[in-house]
Amino acid sequence: MQATIYRSTGSWYTAKTEEGEIFQARMKGILKLDGKITSTNPIAVGDVVEIVREDGDVTANNAMITEITARRNYIVRSSPHKKTQKHIVAANMDQAMLICTVKEPRTSNGFMDRFLVTAAAYHIPVILVFNKWDIYNEKDLEKFDELRDLYENIGYKVLLVSAETTDGLDELKAAMKDKTTLMSGHSGVGKSSLINQLLPGLDLRTTAVSGWSGKGLHTTTYAEMYDLPEGGRLIDTPGVREFGIVDIPKPELSHYFLEMQPYITECQFNNCLHINEPGCAVKEAVNEGEIDVERYVSYASILETIQEEQY
Ligand code: GDP
Ligand code: ZN
Repeated sequence: MQATIYRSTGSWYTAKTEEGEIFQARMKGILKLDGKITSTNPIAVGDVVEIVREDGDVTANNAMITEITARRNYIVRSSPHKKTQKHIVAANMDQAMLICTVKEPRTSNGFMDRFLVTAAAYHIPVILVFNKWDIYNEKDLEKFDELRDLYENIGYKVLLVSAETTDGLDELKAAMKDKTTLMSGHSGVGKSSLINQLLPGLDLRTTAVSGWSGKGLHTTTYAEMYDLPEGGRLIDTPGVREFGIVDIPKPELSHYFLEMQPYITECQFNNCLHINEPGCAVKEAVNEGEIDVERYVSYASILETIQEEQY
């Protein structure tokens, strides 16, 4: 029978069938991905799998995973121990939400742009969700308006919410309805607080309760998926590390800065990196104010890290 993976603990997976029956499943023997045999542990939250109830098991709901259905998309992260080893974090998302804040703590443009580039490379649409609306003063709201204009002009949806007062949550819920949404964000932006609002009864520990040193108490080292009460699913990711990898060849980076796309083909050289080359249409667009300078700065700084990593 077909089931979707909601949780992984390394070797056991929580899988839910379309009828809502929950199984603890594991892999046995050869596993097929899209009809082909695969070797390493490749199952992730969001994967759609074929499971078979274990022989003789009638009560415990244990099952074997026999096949993974081809993924629409997925994100990977490198293992903390072995950089070259990559794990799939989550699969089959409709969209990703990056939780940001204008203050306490301030999310930098560079960080947002890195996330947006990586998500674009994975073909995942992004919604930027600014939290802590309740503590924004006039100046903070001006900053938010500026950021909203910048990112909406590029084509991203931007929301303003408060997990504290619940302002803006209806819009957030509407944006998540019937979709599978991955949520990510820097520690402290209020991701847990928002998830607690979206999933009453779940009670994810927030930083205020557990304290910064309480990390070991609630270790979410794996992504986890939840059904939303009004339809749709939420994937909580433990960190943003998976979005720090920009495994993109230098000449492709500008493709993922969506507003640069129309200019790229106008550059004099078709391998233009838009830094020092003559006849660069991207730089010209920056100079004419058609591309935001801060976005261009992000582009140049990400390009530099790719050079260092020598992709
Ligand atoms: P996480 O690390 O992103 O999961 O953030 P938490 O949910 O643990 O929140 C970090 C801190 O920000 C806690 O002290 C929360 O109470 C606080 N916080 C979260 N959301 C809001 C909000 O909308 N407004 C205000 N004022 N504080 C918030
Ligand atoms: Zn160029």
